[in-house]
Order: sequence, then C-alpha cells, then structure tokens
Amino acid sequence: MLKNPFGRTRNINHRLCEPAELKWDQVNDDPFYELAPMLSKRVVFLAMILLSGFSLPTDLLNAAWGVPQVTSEEPKANRSEGGAHEDLDALLWLQTSAEFAAITRQTFRLAEMNLGPALVDPTWTASVEQQRMFTQQPRKLAALPPAVILDVDETVLDNSAYQARLIANGGEFDPKTWNLFVQEESAIAVPGAVEFIEACRAARVTVLYVTNREYEVEYATRRNLVKTGLMEEDDPDVLLTKNERKPWTSDKKSRRTHLAGQYRILMILGDDLNDFVSLGKKPTPEHRRKMAARYSDRWGRQWMALPNPNYGGWERSLYDWEDRAERKAKLKLKRSNLRD
Ligand SMILES: [Mg+2]
Repeated sequence: MLKNPFGRTRNINHRLCEPAELKWDQVNDDPFYELAPMLSKRVVFLAMILLSGFSLPTDLLNAAWGVPQVTSEEPKANRSEGGAHEDLDALLWLQTSAEFAAITRQTFRLAEMNLGPALVDPTWTASVEQQRMFTQQPRKLAALPPAVILDVDETVLDNSAYQARLIANGGEFDPKTWNLFVQEESAIAVPGAVEFIEACRAARVTVLYVTNREYEVEYATRRNLVKTGLMEEDDPDVLLTKNERKPWTSDKKSRRTHLAGQYRILMILGDDLNDFVSLGKKPTPEHRRKMAARYSDRWGRQWMALPNPNYGGWERSLYDWEDRAERKAKLKLKRSNLRD
C-alpha cells in the first residue's frame, strides 16, 4: 500500500499493474512467429536457410536471433533509402548537438530560479484551472501545499533511442512498439531535469508527473523515473497516466483540474502546448500559436517549454491529426505548411 497524496489510500500492487512480458518480435505478423512458440526459433531458422538457398530476408534473420526491431507495415519499397528520413536532422540535433543540452539546462535552471519567488507569493499559480480560485478564494489557494507539474516524455525522459530505431528501420510511430520500448525502462534523463527535481525536493515542493503514457505502462514508467533519479523509490503515486481514471483522457485538463484542488501549482514544464492548457480537439497550427501567444506572460515564469523537434501536437496538427494517413499524404500536407 502506498500513501496517496490525493487524500485517500490507494492499493498499488505493481505486480498486478505489470503487463505480461512482451518481446519486440511479438508485434510482427509474419507467419514465422506463429510457429515460433512450438518450435525452437533457431531450428526453424536453420531449416529455412536450407530451403531458401541462403537468401533469408534481413528481418527474419534478425528475428531468429532475437535482434529487437521496430515493425513497419509499409512496403519495403517505401522504407528509407540512402538514410533519408523525415526525422533525421531533428533527431541528430537532439542527440548530438551541444545546443540541445544547453537549452534544456537553461530551461530547468530558470525553473529552479523561479521556485523562490513562486513560493513566497501566495497568489502565484501556473494552472489555468486554478485561475478562478486565484480570484475568488485567494486564502484557500495560499493554504494549499506547493507543487510543480511535469510532463514525462521529452520533458524529463529522453526517448530518442526509440526515434533512432524508427529511422534505422524506416518506420513510423506505433503504439505497440512504443509500449515495448517503454517496458525496457531504458530512457535517460533530459539534461538538467534531475538537478531541478532535487531542487524541488530541497524546497519541499511536491513533484507531480502528468503523462500521456498509458496506465498499462505506469509501473515501467515509474521504474524508469526511479532509475534516472527523477523519482524516489518510496515516493507515493505522483504519476498520473492516461486512462488511469475514466476522465483522464489525452487532454490533460482533467488531471490538472484534479491536482488544482489539492496543490498550489507553482510551475508546469512540458514539451507540448497540451501540457499547459487545453486546446480542444484537433487544434490547427494557427490555433496553437494563438493560444501560446494568449498566455505569453506565463512563459519563462510559470510555464517552461522544452524543445522537441521530433514529434508532438505541432507536427500532428500539420496533417490534421490524421495519424493513420499514408505517409506520403502526411508529407505532402507538411510541405504545404512551408513558408518561403
Ligand atoms: Mg512530452
């Protein structure tokens, strides 16, 4: 049993939450995988070598030897050729540039510098959902314990290894391969994040994580956060995942509202505008920019944005949130947004 900061005790049996172990190759639809549970993969592998005249596909070779792979359902002809991939430069910038880490460190350092002023000002709140309390019940707001809300992916955890695999395989995001990656618990901390969390702990500010990772991978996410020093082993359940409760949809407003009744929210940190404010369904790029401008006073004070050039609402809005559209169609829509 873990103590729940939300006012009641919640039975958190992580063993029950832990999903059955899956392997990368289980998401492949190849008939080979139906035989695999009955026969040794390596026996099948050797038999197929003999039958095929030593010309097995690379994917099958990899799978037979247990090499993790990201499944792509698109025809091989459409896979990246010559290393070309729409995310290549963005990911290389994130993984190799000096500037990426400089930006994330300066963001977390600015957040740390703001902790003091936020703590001493009893009317300070970062939550739009707390705005009414700010004007109507300032004493109630001042009496609430202080907390910060952080997104997880590309805010405190760097999942660029998953993106790198997509580029290597010419693939696209797939919830199945994504959840398998999450269960590896191998994501590293974004530079500067651990130092900020430590500063919050020292100032007795509660750290809350609001993520759109699914509830089924909450246990793995918690373990990854503990491994990276972003959460303590004995922390209560401060990780609010998508669908953990019925109203907790991908729009994070319901979770911010839930927290706004229990904490004074000093700061919000995230890599997507949805981490800060509700944008409605399928917001256009124009609407997103307008909303960011509407709250311009909050940036750098109560709201801290981390850079994510790889994915997010900014990208999905460019192809009208049609995630399942053909890749070529998405690229065409993206290109139509270029300004020259
Ligand atoms: Mg994120």
